[in-house]
Amino acid sequence: MATLPVPLHAWSTHQTVIGLPAPADKRTSLPVSNSTKSFWFTDADVRPVPHEGSEGPVTDGADICIIGSGITGVSAAYHLSRAFSGDNSLAASLGRPVKAVLFEAREFCSGATGTNGGHLTAHKFGEFRRWQKELGQEEAMRALEIEQYTVKELTRILKENGKEEYVDLTHGGRLMLMFSEQELTETKADYEAAKSAGADMTGVEWLSKEEVWRRYGAPYPAVLIPGNNLWPLKAVSVLYNLAQNSSANFSLNLHTRTPVTSISPIEASNAVANSPFPRRHTLTTPRGPVTCSYVLHATNAYASHLLPHLAGPNGIVPTRGQIIAVRASVPAKELSDVGGTGNEGFEYWFPRPVKSDAEETPLVIVGGGREVAKGFELYETDDSVINKDVGVALRAFLPATFPEKYDAEQDPEMEWTGIMGYTHSGDPFVGPVVDKGQRGDNPAYDGQFIAAGYAGHGMPRAFACAEAVVGMIVADIQGKMWSPPSWLPRGYLTQHKDASQTG
Ligand SMILES: Cc1cc2nc3c(=O)[nH]c(=O)nc-3n(C[C@H](O)[C@H](O)[C@H](O)COP(=O)(O)OP(=O)(O)OC[C@H]3O[C@@H](n4cnc5c(N)ncnc54)[C@H](O)[C@@H]3O)c2cc1C
Repeated sequence: MATLPVPLHAWSTHQTVIGLPAPADKRTSLPVSNSTKSFWFTDADVRPVPHEGSEGPVTDGADICIIGSGITGVSAAYHLSRAFSGDNSLAASLGRPVKAVLFEAREFCSGATGTNGGHLTAHKFGEFRRWQKELGQEEAMRALEIEQYTVKELTRILKENGKEEYVDLTHGGRLMLMFSEQELTETKADYEAAKSAGADMTGVEWLSKEEVWRRYGAPYPAVLIPGNNLWPLKAVSVLYNLAQNSSANFSLNLHTRTPVTSISPIEASNAVANSPFPRRHTLTTPRGPVTCSYVLHATNAYASHLLPHLAGPNGIVPTRGQIIAVRASVPAKELSDVGGTGNEGFEYWFPRPVKSDAEETPLVIVGGGREVAKGFELYETDDSVINKDVGVALRAFLPATFPEKYDAEQDPEMEWTGIMGYTHSGDPFVGPVVDKGQRGDNPAYDGQFIAAGYAGHGMPRAFACAEAVVGMIVADIQGKMWSPPSWLPRGYLTQHKDASQTG
């Protein structure tokens, strides 16, 4: 068995390090403007184009301003469009469509969503025993349900709109390789706990070392779970176009290369009455100010730039991830379309579908390796930079794991980084912006909401979190009570968190 290029059992150290007091300047920077380019930007057949809405005047006021054009922000626009397309009462009372604007600091969807590993896979049992112990059985079940729900909804939308092929959606599953006896024992215990609690284990298959070697070419035991891979940027563009073309009751504008640099409250006495809801916030951008009634922070890793109380270990910690795109040394039929993870999920990979005869062997997207970096790449916000040590580990990982399928001498065709938003618990912040460090309510945050911080596992959660937060905004607009969907873990809600005790 070849020596793996990454240390095993690093996750517990990761959790210790992320809990340490933050560096002095812990508030996140804005996204850098010269990021590395991911594979997902190599196809021009994507609308909107990357820099759409980057020129000309900015929108003159909006009802809802969404900051961030990743899967969270665009899903929010999609859910808003659905909420208002069937109900023209608000548009009728305004005498115009409900207006939403998406602000993006750089190119459309160029944050974590546009740089990620392309896995759309719901946990089948995840860290079930920890969730059970820390949060209780009901919450542990919801942590699984939200992911099943998200994957089901996203794949349904893609299918119903005939976009499965456009986004290269694959259903091959995820092979979770177990590199040590300890990892195998713990994963089996999570599986058994979730199964006993009634979680649906359809499609889960445990494989011996010999079976994995025979089928896939890696000398480790594994568990195969249902899972999908896709082209994340294209999937988000599908949602964007559905939102934009939804109905005359809703309008959506996109401003790329337009960072929001600050948000200030509009004094109630100065608020321009805009029945049924007044403008409450001024968003400052280099292209001019924009006033709006509601703000949704869909800024993920960068949330603390505008919300400094979310900086540090109890908030959202920016974390740099790195990926290479490298050719396998065998044809697709010898590789299968299964994606995989290894080493407690630090490494992940999937072979892209082969689209033409000219491609003799598949291109494989492989990410991870940050456990070889000092500090796990935590608090790194610069995705114009490649970490050399991480790159060395990534190049060696697949050849060491699947010795007959990859060649260690093969150079990657592309390499890039992207910034994830980690939280200590692994759960995102979803709901009204709450700063418990302030005594009493802070009126500056009235009408501000957030869905962010998916800890590197956002594809099967962000769409549903955006749905939940949009539900809150729409209920507030309509003067109704909001009740959480059955699948939403209550622990995700901002009201249940306290990010103020930051280090
Ligand atoms: C390398 C890497 C690999 C990953 N692999 C996977 C994977 O395979 N599967 C999975 O489930 N998850 C994966 N993730 C995590 C997943 O991509 C994220 O959880 C998810 O995309 C988060 O979506 P988002 O919309 O909340 O954030 P983002 O996609 O990061 O969107 C936030 C956007 O906000 C913009 N922004 C920030 N601040 C401002 C501001 N002040 N003004 C204007 N715009 C602003 C940013 O430029 C960015 O485009 C990975 C992430 C990375 C980086």
